[in-house]
Amino acid sequence: MSKSIFIDTSICSACRACQVACKQWHDLPAEKTVNRGTFQNPEDLSFSTYKLVRMNEEMINGRLEWLFFPDQCRHCVDAPCLETAFDETAIYRDPATGAILYTKNSIKLDAEEIIGSCPYNIPRKAGDGTLAKCDMCNDRVHNGLKPACVTACPTGAMMFGEREEILEFAQKRLGKVKQKFPKAMLLNPDEVNVIYLVAFAPNLYSDYAVASANRGGLSRSVALRKMMGPFARMMRV
Ligand code: SF4
Ligand code: SF4
Repeated sequence: MSKSIFIDTSICSACRACQVACKQWHDLPAEKTVNRGTFQNPEDLSFSTYKLVRMNEEMINGRLEWLFFPDQCRHCVDAPCLETAFDETAIYRDPATGAILYTKNSIKLDAEEIIGSCPYNIPRKAGDGTLAKCDMCNDRVHNGLKPACVTACPTGAMMFGEREEILEFAQKRLGKVKQKFPKAMLLNPDEVNVIYLVAFAPNLYSDYAVASANRGGLSRSVALRKMMGPFARMMRV
């Protein structure tokens, strides 16, 4: 059983209420930004920015389209970062919510290996190598609240609930959006617990909107650990 978030980018207005609510709930510091000629700020996710509304302008069928993509951890059904870490004191799944959670012990992991394992390019490291990312607002969820970003969204672009209900809703919504945008699709819905609906080709929104084929592969040491199962930890492979 797990919880899921549905993000309908076709009605996202890029107000960034979700981005601000995420910072506020986690008491994360603001980042110094500069004008880069885009409304997107900061430039990327970071150790202290778990959610970022990516913004792109594209000419599609002779029309200028603004494409908005509130990027965050997908809380993968089979999470490559979790499998790569192979250390539940550092990265684990909450069985009650399905959230993939990083702890302070992530400082013990090979940060580059974990970052490289994520098909959506999500985890970020601090100067000391500790890793961080969206935690699905697990503390809120355990207290009967929705994630802060979902609560803050004024357009109803985000929805939170049981995975089966969210998947059903996402499919229904896709049917409606397709009437106006025939190329609309859900992104990797069987593989993730944060399910995006996009109206146009996913690569127009973000390089990592869908799982990247160039990332997420298991390194040789991780493949060996998986093969050896519990013996790997005993033998410190
Ligand atoms: S999106 Fe990346 S960081 Fe998030 S659970 Fe999946 S592999 Fe881990
Ligand atoms: S679920 Fe919580 S931690 Fe994740 S992006 Fe939304 S507000 Fe941030």
